[in-house]
Amino acid sequence: MELEEHYGQLLGVKSPWEIASVDLKMQDQRVDIVIEYTDDQGPCPECGAICPKHDNRKKRTWRHLDTMQFSTYLYCEVPRVRCDTHGAKTVAIPWAGKNSRFTLLFEAFAIRVLTAARSVEEARKLLGLNWHQTEAIKARAVQRGLARRKKTNIRYLGIDEKQFRSGHCYMFMTSFISASTSMTRLIRCDARRIKHSSVKVMSGSKEASLPGYPTKRMSVRNLSNNSIAGGHGSEAMAASPR
Ligand SMILES: [Zn+2]
Repeated sequence: MELEEHYGQLLGVKSPWEIASVDLKMQDQRVDIVIEYTDDQGPCPECGAICPKHDNRKKRTWRHLDTMQFSTYLYCEVPRVRCDTHGAKTVAIPWAGKNSRFTLLFEAFAIRVLTAARSVEEARKLLGLNWHQTEAIKARAVQRGLARRKKTNIRYLGIDEKQFRSGHCYMFMTSFISASTSMTRLIRCDARRIKHSSVKVMSGSKEASLPGYPTKRMSVRNLSNNSIAGGHGSEAMAASPR
């Protein structure tokens, strides 16, 4: 029981979820952890109402961070609840995102490896993932990041052109620059050459708000004319009229 409690604490699994068993397979260098749902009711993932348990879905597997050199996998028959409004729904699990086969901790680690590696291919090999899994982890991380963003007034925009792969292939980056922290945050990324582009700045971006700039589209030439600082291949523009 000590081992189950130990893994329960490491995974942050709390009631009504419970570590039912931990199977250490020395020969396969693998740890299999089974998680169970112990309550007979649960929250509807759509409306949050507490509903009676309906049934269990078939057993699913998630890859977790390795325990030392041992591959670690979680298993659970995730329950469904019957909501009067939304019908039978699978309850949200605390250790992984919807439709992911990896735990949130593994995905966070994978993103750190991806940002530190010289290429996606290098990170993919280090993590033991295939290309599809790597792309899915990246896409979910972007979705989580975008969901956390809040609408803010943007005073300074960073405009930059980055070479992508080899040859004359460029990505056009538009970033929000915080004057107080000097931090930048990517807002848009367009696969066009800067001098041929008419850039759609802010349009459709839920976090962006440009007071005093009702225009949705600005040409690169107009952005350049308003620049307040810049260098080779990059410019910054005051987005505020003040
Ligand atoms: Zn509901």
